[in-house]
Amino acid sequence: MKLANRVAALTPSTTLEITAKAQELKAQGHDVIGLGAGEPDYNTPEHIMQAAIMAMKEGHTKYTPTGGLSQLKQAIIEKFQKDQNISYNQKEIIVCNGAKHALYTLFQVILNPGDEVIIPTPYWVSYPEQVKLAEGKPVYVEGLESNSFKITPEQLKSVITDKTKAVIINSPSNPTGMIYSKEELQKLGEVCLEHGLLIVSDEIYEKLIYGENHHTSIAQISPDFKEQTIIINGVSKSHSMTGWRIGYAAGNMAIIGAMTNLASHSTSNPTSIAQYATIAAYTGPQDDVETMRHAFEERLTIIYDKLIQIPGFSCLKPQGAFYLFANVSKAAELAGFDSVDNMVKAILDEEKVALIPGSGFGADDYVRLSYATSLSILEEAIERIQSFMNRKMNK
Ligand code: PMP
Ligand code: GLU
Repeated sequence: MKLANRVAALTPSTTLEITAKAQELKAQGHDVIGLGAGEPDYNTPEHIMQAAIMAMKEGHTKYTPTGGLSQLKQAIIEKFQKDQNISYNQKEIIVCNGAKHALYTLFQVILNPGDEVIIPTPYWVSYPEQVKLAEGKPVYVEGLESNSFKITPEQLKSVITDKTKAVIINSPSNPTGMIYSKEELQKLGEVCLEHGLLIVSDEIYEKLIYGENHHTSIAQISPDFKEQTIIINGVSKSHSMTGWRIGYAAGNMAIIGAMTNLASHSTSNPTSIAQYATIAAYTGPQDDVETMRHAFEERLTIIYDKLIQIPGFSCLKPQGAFYLFANVSKAAELAGFDSVDNMVKAILDEEKVALIPGSGFGADDYVRLSYATSLSILEEAIERIQSFMNRKMNK
């Protein structure tokens, strides 16, 4: 049977594909180190799991309102108030089956065929595909390494057309780990306001910030900015809950209402017990969030210094998230590969270390390593990459 045109050109998520391949090799008995997965290596904190068990035992195993339980929306509203000093009401929030699903639903309700969405590169793998699935057109703007992979207001202005509908800002960024400052966001936001563009602010790594850096949401800058922004967030990364599939969108009531309508015909609601778990995640103690953040920061400090010692590897030090985004064009050349993609394949075949090639993020010269794994495993991975490079260079 011929499949629908909409999926004909759809590429699978590189991040999930490589993670699955690494898991498969491991299951076959290979000693594989997976640095592909973009998920915390910790289990979900105990009190959150207990809340889900309680929810089941109390019979909260039925449909819930499509946009999420009122108590959960309230917990999210209080989180926004406390962390960003932004006030939302319940009609401005939709809880979805993960932040990925929130983004997917958002693009479905805002885009008409041919509408353009500006996506800064390097980008998270799913943005372009989701825009295309909604018959929109991704328009790329290169976040230059010399500007910490961030786009400037001038660059943004230069790609706006009468078809531009929205701009995606992902800070802290997956894959680069870079964070936009309040001043940078202010300037980008002014351009968006001037042209009536919706700002899609993906803040899923909000809690993973290192050193002196801090996170600002573009929506907290002013009421005008808030009205023009849809914030995307969730508990996958902050509370190590990737498998529970809870994420949400917050913003303009008409957009959130349309998303809720659409979800009522697609998912009905996010999993009931996962919603109860998320209430506990937001209203309970936050110590585990800080413990995990601290562990990631420690790993980053140690592993970053080792990574940049590898011949041909250079890397800006990330400010947040849990990825290293290394420029390896020189390494590929030194090791005799015609592309980074081919080098990444060889590292997996020969050294059994799974990395994500930058091509999945729209940046061919780079490779992404996730350091959401134990220090001893990370050190072993770096040693394997180092010996791979030594072997290839001495050939
Ligand atoms: N946005 C970014 C930038 C991400 O890295 C991820 C992680 N997959 C998501 C959204 C989606 O997260 P979730 O697990 O909540 O769907
Ligand atoms: N966000 C994670 C990553 O980039 C999880 C995988 C995915 O959802 O694409 O690796």
